[in-house]
Amino acid sequence: MHPSIPFVDLKAQYLSIKQEIDQTIQQVLSESAFIGGKYVNEFEQAFASMLDASHCVGVGNGTDAIFIALKSLGIGPGDEVIVQVNSIIATSEAVTMTGAKVVFADIRADSFHIDPNQILKKISSKTKAIIPVHLYGNPVEMDPVLDIARKHHLFVIEDAAQAHLAEYKGRKVGTLGDAACFSFYPGKNLGAYGDAGAIVTNNEQIATQSRMFANHGRIAKYDHEFEGINSRLDSLQAAILTVKLNHLASWIQQRQNIAQKYDQGLKDVSGCITPVITKDGKHVYHLYVVRMNERERLRQFLTSKGINTGIHYPTILPALPAYRYLNHQAHDFPVGSQLQHEILSLPVYPEMTEEQIEYIINQIHQFAHV
Ligand SMILES: *Cc1c(COP(=O)(O)O)cnc(C)c1O
Repeated sequence: MHPSIPFVDLKAQYLSIKQEIDQTIQQVLSESAFIGGKYVNEFEQAFASMLDASHCVGVGNGTDAIFIALKSLGIGPGDEVIVQVNSIIATSEAVTMTGAKVVFADIRADSFHIDPNQILKKISSKTKAIIPVHLYGNPVEMDPVLDIARKHHLFVIEDAAQAHLAEYKGRKVGTLGDAACFSFYPGKNLGAYGDAGAIVTNNEQIATQSRMFANHGRIAKYDHEFEGINSRLDSLQAAILTVKLNHLASWIQQRQNIAQKYDQGLKDVSGCITPVITKDGKHVYHLYVVRMNERERLRQFLTSKGINTGIHYPTILPALPAYRYLNHQAHDFPVGSQLQHEILSLPVYPEMTEEQIEYIINQIHQFAHV
């Protein structure tokens, strides 16, 4: 019998903080404080302060966070927004939701991040913004992206949904562009017990605009300045997130320890490329993604040994049926088109045991030797 190692284990994390969580939930219920109010304020302030950011606006989920940030910057029909080909559809979907056009750019083969040279090729007179994604928790090398944005008068919206507390040049991601978007989907490094998200910015106007747009275009109860949407962070999720925020730094430390063991244990496996961390960056390992030529065979082998893996993402966005209307070919994005066949995400979560990590490393060696 071999062990069974899940790809994520949300239950193990809950059990490790059960008492605190149950108590908080009880408290919110007993106060019937469900929307807005002190629990939301408390979380927003704690999260902003942890990132060294001026403002945090809690919203319904990470996709809405991107949508709301774009709307707050005045982006809409007639505009273009540049998005990297390898991300979750949320990143590009949020652009389309504003009425703007998604323009895809290829990625760098070392970091899987948006390639600044490709950004340059995609800029037109209609381009309004770039959305770099701190993919897998590895911070984007922001300086070249910010330089391009400055030169061409573009907004930069960081998609930091996978990168809570990641750093670039000593600064937390989420504070490097005009606005940043976080997701607290349960499986993210900081996860709620349902959907939740936030916009983080140092720009007061963007913060106010986002807060109003997310809440029917109002601040006071019936004082609607414009039409918005309903996308609020609810108090139960906020209270849960505040509890978890106190554990986040140590959970990330654990993820980094696991990543270090993988790096060490896999460096001699032929054909296996371990993650390349951005220079001057701090990776928070939402995902630990290796490149392997024989990805499919390795994946099947690991599955047969009880090891669950993931692929993030199996199809680059422009190749999805949802973007057929853009008429792209694989050779429009040679790097992304190739890498989608090579990437494999190994389990990485704070509650993993030494034995589990060693077992996974050993099995990958086994695979490489047969
Ligand atoms: C999870 C995620 C989102 C979307 O967040 P939701 O809360 O699921 O809406 C956006 N971008 C990236 C890179 C993500 O990983």
